[in-house]
This record gives sequence, structure tokens and C-alpha cells, in this order.
Amino acid sequence: MKYILVTGGVISGIGKGIIASSLGTILKSCGLHVTSIKIDPYINIDAGTFSPYEHGEVFVLDDGGEVDLDLGNYERFLDIRLTKENNLTTGKIYQSVINKERKGDYLGKTVQVVPHITDAIQEWVMKQARVSVDDDGVEPEVCIIELGGTVGDIESMPFIEAFRQFQFKVKKENFCNIHVSLIPQPNTTGEQKTKPTQSSVRELRGLGLSPDLIMCRCSMPLERAVKEKISMFCHVEPTQVICVQDVSTVYRVPLLLEDQGVVSYFCQRLNLPVETSPRRMLSKWKEMADRSDRLLERVSIALVGKYTKLADAYTSVIKALEHSALAINHKLEVKYIDSADLEPVTLQEEPVKYHEAWHKLCSSEGVLVPGGFGTRGTEGKILAINWARKQNKPFLGVCLGMQLAVCEFARNVLGWEDANSTEFNPESKHPVVIEMPEHNPGQMGGTMRLGKRRTIFRSKNSVMKKLYGNVDYVDERHRHRFEVNPEMKADFEKNGLQFAGQDVEGERMEIIELEDHCYFVGVQFHPEFTSRPIKPSPPYFGLLLAAAGKLQSYLAKGCQLSPRDTYSCCSSGDSSPDVEICELKFPSLS
Ligand code: GLN
Repeated sequence: MKYILVTGGVISGIGKGIIASSLGTILKSCGLHVTSIKIDPYINIDAGTFSPYEHGEVFVLDDGGEVDLDLGNYERFLDIRLTKENNLTTGKIYQSVINKERKGDYLGKTVQVVPHITDAIQEWVMKQARVSVDDDGVEPEVCIIELGGTVGDIESMPFIEAFRQFQFKVKKENFCNIHVSLIPQPNTTGEQKTKPTQSSVRELRGLGLSPDLIMCRCSMPLERAVKEKISMFCHVEPTQVICVQDVSTVYRVPLLLEDQGVVSYFCQRLNLPVETSPRRMLSKWKEMADRSDRLLERVSIALVGKYTKLADAYTSVIKALEHSALAINHKLEVKYIDSADLEPVTLQEEPVKYHEAWHKLCSSEGVLVPGGFGTRGTEGKILAINWARKQNKPFLGVCLGMQLAVCEFARNVLGWEDANSTEFNPESKHPVVIEMPEHNPGQMGGTMRLGKRRTIFRSKNSVMKKLYGNVDYVDERHRHRFEVNPEMKADFEKNGLQFAGQDVEGERMEIIELEDHCYFVGVQFHPEFTSRPIKPSPPYFGLLLAAAGKLQSYLAKGCQLSPRDTYSCCSSGDSSPDVEICELKFPSLS
């Protein structure tokens, strides 16, 4: 097993996750099986209780793990499926050590950060690195470990110390450290400044780790003299200084790193048994990057949500939209709308805001209402759904978005004026969305229906079934406490709202589709979590196709994306990732 530890210096939020995932992508393109572990030094056990306002989206895994959104980067870049244990937090480590202590496993010894916590970290990493993350079930050969935060943070000290020891335990040829740093270029002088990098490398060295590659994040390519300076002051060869300047799209990052000889460096440093010539899989990344730079036609989607001020709050949703837009050769324009701005109270208090929000909604070609929690803004979402339904605008509702579409239909088509979810009005006489029985009230965290669950398609004519490649069922990820009230199913279906997909028992409504509408779909699951750059998620793909006016012709041509190669529900565990990805074709739409 080869371990690559990625640390960060100077400030966080400079793309360490993207760089780490890109390194993995390059190595995977060499035919290696690559896994990843993300370490978050906070004390929370997992990201389940985080507010999207503060931390961005909570990413959900197959096994129901609620994890940091960076794990989404790894899954998307590497096309792998991770488990909760791939996200390690201080909370998890302490919990495991304290549990052992209570069981008496330490035989009366004093339990300390060194060696007990540091040992537990090393054991966790070694154990988790071996867990297969690919469909073929092969044990990984490379494990990328990303340490969150920046070197020198109090919280990350036990982790740094654990890896300081670890490098000797696993031997030099099996461990290396990549340090991601920032080279600011202040406007005043226009010079690229190396001092912050020098200090953070010094700090890292002081803690006993030496960087093998220094990845310099900068706005422009590094000048030669700057590279030489970093090399001299940071005690590395100039070839070990890698420039990661701003690029037009994230798809360029693996290419940028490859261009600077990262593969041959790893081959030599880690003694990897692979060729160093460019890989076919990377050519796919080049194709995506070029395609993304050349896009001329635009398609605009209104994202009617609640956390529209923080871009990270809907990361996977945006990625899923981007994957789909790219597949049909369109440039995506997302119009963020705070759903509360669509409500009549805003008209009274801030009319300009109200009209702007409605203008954005009306001028977009498709409407997406994503998942969410809490009452604020739900009425505005219902208004947006109502508009999309009546105007025959493509609409996709995800999780809460689907639940509210059911409320809208009940109120305005079935005439049940007070229809609502009991999450927002427990007194409603028409509780069309109700709490699920297994929800465990009173305890926060881990009390939802989480992770991969099966949805069975009930009708041959379902547009979702077609988009998923005419399969009988799909496995998608969930995160909810409420569900559509199954008792009212017949009332909806009689009036044209079909429950096209249900769980195995036929009790849980998973997919809604409206008859006589260009595209009006709701899904109880979160398909965005499994969307991949070259395997766009079907519900999102359908929305984009419909918004670009291409859905009918796509369906008429028998959906050109090959279902066998594309979606998890029907993949038969293909062999080499290189071949699998290369054989995939984007649907060619005229
Ligand atoms: N609040 C809703 C529920 O708990 C929807 C959750 C979501 O959109 N993720 O069921």
C-alpha cells in the first residue's frame, strides 16, 4: 500500500481537496486502484448535524454515512464509492479510544494522546486503506489521505504526529507528503510572494514531516525565479515545486499536474509499477475540459432553495447540473433564488427583491427545488412549483422538492387547501407528507432514513425508467425523515400525478411524474450524490434535456447513453476503469 498524505498550509479553502482528488485521478489512470481518506480534525462524530450555512452541504454515502462534502470530490473524480470510515474525525478517534478504555482494553494504563490516540489514527488509516472502493472489489494500491485545515492548527496536531510516526512504520518508499500552499500576488507590486509558503513548510518540518511535492496555488503560472526561490528556501528540488494556477475548469487540474511530471515523480519516489506515458483516461478529462471551454449554447436553471448565499450548500446539486449540461454541450447558468423572496410578504416588505426573484424564475428554462429542512421559504418553493406546473416548464424536485410538489398538487389540483407536510403544519387536515415510523425523535444525528435504498419502477411508460436505461430498479441515496402519505396515493394518481417508483414493499413513494407535462418529476432520493462527470445522473439529465428542448428527441432515439456502462444500478462490475470510462460516449444530440 502506498500512502500519500496531503496537507495544507497558509489558509484553507485553496483547493486542497481538488488537488488531492486530481492526484488520485492521475494514478487511477495509470491502472492503479486508488482510495481516499478525508480527515476532519473537528470533534463532531460526523457531518450529520452541520448547518449548510456554516459547512456547506452534507454529503451522503451508500452506507448512510453523513460526511464532509470533500468526499464527494473523491467519489466524482475517482468514480468510487466510499464508506463512512473513509471520513475520520477527532470525535470518531476519541470515541473509539474511550470505548476501548471503558472495556478495560488498556489494562489499567494511563490513556494518552501519544501513543494511544496516535496509534488509533494509524490503525484506522491502515485498516481503511485496504477496503475496496471499486465495483471490481479489488483492494486499493494507493491511499490518498487529505488532512483538513492547515498545518499548525491545534486540532490537527495528533494527526500530524501520527503521520510523523507512520512514515517510519510503513517505510519511505510507501509514504509521501504533498503540501498544498498559497503563493499570493498582491496587486500593489504584482509580485508572487513565497514567504507564507516558506513559513508553512518550516512549520511542517518542525513537526517532523518533509514535503515531497509542494503544490503552489497561485493565480498565474509561477515565474521561474519564484520556483527556484521556493526550491532553495524550502529545501526541495525545483522539480518538486508544482504550480497549480487558476484554470478554466476543475477538469484541467489532473492535466495540469500530469504535465509537470507528477506521474514520473510518484513512480520513482513510491516505486510504482506503472508506465509513465499519458493515459487514455486522462484524454477523457482533456476532452471534458476542452468541451467545457468551448460551450456556446446556454441553458439556465432556477435553483429555488434556502441556503442560496453559500455556494457550497448545494455543491453536489450544482455538480450534477454541470455534468448533465456538459453532456448535452450546453453552458450551465444557475439562477439562485431564495424561495422566501417569492412569497407575498416579500412583496410588501421588499418589492424590488420580490420582483427580481420572480423575474429570475420566469426567465429560466428549468426549475429545480432541492432538498432542505425547516419551514422558512417552503411556501415560496410551493409557488415556484405551481408556476412550473402551470407554465409547462421543466421541473425537478429533490427530496423536500418532491414533498412540496405533492403539497402543491394537493392544494391546487385536488382542492385540499390546507394540504401540507406535518413537518410544517402538524395540524393540517390533509397531511399529504408525514413522518416516517422509524424516525427516532429526540435524538439528533443518525435518525433519518439514510443511504442507499432500492426504488422499483412500477410503470413501463415512466420517463424516469427510460432515462435510467429501462432498468427495473435503481439504488439511490436517501436522507429524509418525512415521506408522502401512502393513504392518499389513489387520489393523486386518479388526477394525473403518478407514483412511478416505490420502495420494494410498495409503501414508500420514491418518484412522482406528472402526466401531460414536458418534464415534471420529483424524487425522494438524492440522485446528485452519485452523478459523475461522464455519467450524469438521469433525473438531472432529464431536466437539462427538457430545459434545452431535447428530451423528446433523446427519448425517441432510444436514449443513447449505454445503461450498462453508465449507472450503478445495472453495472456488472466492469474490469479496468481505464477501459470502462474510455468506452463511454456522450450522447450525440443534434
Ligand atoms: N425535511 C424533509 C424530510 O426530512 C426533506 C429532507 C431533505 O430534503 N433532505 O423528509
